[in-house]
Amino acid sequence: MEILHSVNDFNEAKQVIVGGVNSPVRAFGSVGGTPRFIARGEGSYLYDVDGNKYLDFVQSWGPLIFGHGDLEIKQASIEAIHNGMSFGAPTELETTLAKEIISLYDGVEKIRLVSSGTEATMSAIRLARAYSGKDDIIKFDGCYHGHSDSLLVSAGSGCATFGSPSSPGVPMDFSKHTLVARYNDLDSVRACFESGDVGCVIIEPIAGNMGLIPARKEFIFGLRELCDQYGAVLIFDEVMSGFRASLRGAQVFYEVIPDMVTFGKVIGGGMPLAAFGGNDEIMKLLSPVGSVYQAGTLSGNPVAVSAGLMSVCKLKADSGLYERLESKAKRLMQGFAQEAQKRGVALQTCVRGSMFGYFFTANEVCNFDDARASDTTLFAKFHQQMLERGIYLAPSAFEAGFVCSTMTDEEIDWAICKCGESLEEIIYG
Ligand SMILES: *Cc1c(COP(=O)(O)O)cnc(C)c1O
Repeated sequence: MEILHSVNDFNEAKQVIVGGVNSPVRAFGSVGGTPRFIARGEGSYLYDVDGNKYLDFVQSWGPLIFGHGDLEIKQASIEAIHNGMSFGAPTELETTLAKEIISLYDGVEKIRLVSSGTEATMSAIRLARAYSGKDDIIKFDGCYHGHSDSLLVSAGSGCATFGSPSSPGVPMDFSKHTLVARYNDLDSVRACFESGDVGCVIIEPIAGNMGLIPARKEFIFGLRELCDQYGAVLIFDEVMSGFRASLRGAQVFYEVIPDMVTFGKVIGGGMPLAAFGGNDEIMKLLSPVGSVYQAGTLSGNPVAVSAGLMSVCKLKADSGLYERLESKAKRLMQGFAQEAQKRGVALQTCVRGSMFGYFFTANEVCNFDDARASDTTLFAKFHQQMLERGIYLAPSAFEAGFVCSTMTDEEIDWAICKCGESLEEIIYG
């Protein structure tokens, strides 16, 4: 595979952009090799600047559930652009999108639109602290909620990849209010509640930032009970799982109603859009109704909202979509598992709706410690081999993968075939 243009582009980018990338994991730091510079995307495929074609299982890290360049989403965005890029004043579209989200997610009665998942979780935490009157929050080791100071503690994703438990520049005075519990381990949550003055628990109910690790049903149920017992706000961070794991996100898998929910990724259809919402009692503390401040020049941007609204409407209109997506993700993971088994490679796989994950380990993966114990060296080799063969997987062992609606069984089978070849090359090559 010829990648000269990507190599040159990466070198040039590094002169002016830190590490050559605008988000760390794009640099391929944990898997090695040269990040591909992308010229365009179309349906299931990415095309790099050297003209190579890749079957894309990253899909912009989740947002593109209809694949690259979906015609209707493109048209909705272009139509919006004709009317102006941004007004800094309310539009009808924002109300329509808010209604759609509220109608699907229990516990969400009011919403505020923002531009990134980081903003959504940061603002939700501020509101939860104001509501509960307590400063301490609980998050889970390996869950990623964006890069705000309070939440960049034992974060997964890029952080875990680079092996730093938190980031320099985050004052101890902030991080001391973030208590870190173990995923799927209620006793560790209880210990946090007992050791601090906890006003809020934030969790990815279907964790996708330490690989894909869904929470157990009884764990989520127990969290709800503990939050009620201690008067703490339960936040489901569904920036990734919302409209991805199912139309109603994690709520389909757990019959537990959170106090607040954060959204992002899919709700923007590929544009910068996110949201946080919750019950009226909490949300009414938010400015301008209440005194908890939060604002954004481009919040609810009409172009982003148009793209997002079209995505959500398309998702609602196609009743069999999530079943089809899940069957594709399952086909892929079963295929990977078989190819691995044939060659005596230990592999754990997992699927939730259109999300999938795999770990090179013989042991069940229930939390970040389990994930870290998987063979990341083998993962890096696998990633490289797959990329060479035109399969674009997330460049980290601690990320979820995604299928999109344009993917066919033939494409999935092709990826499975490449998985076999890649493992063969790694073992005997
Ligand atoms: C991606 C993600 C975020 C951060 O969203 P950004 O738009 O990248 O700031 C927060 N929480 C979860 C669960 C995510 O997957």
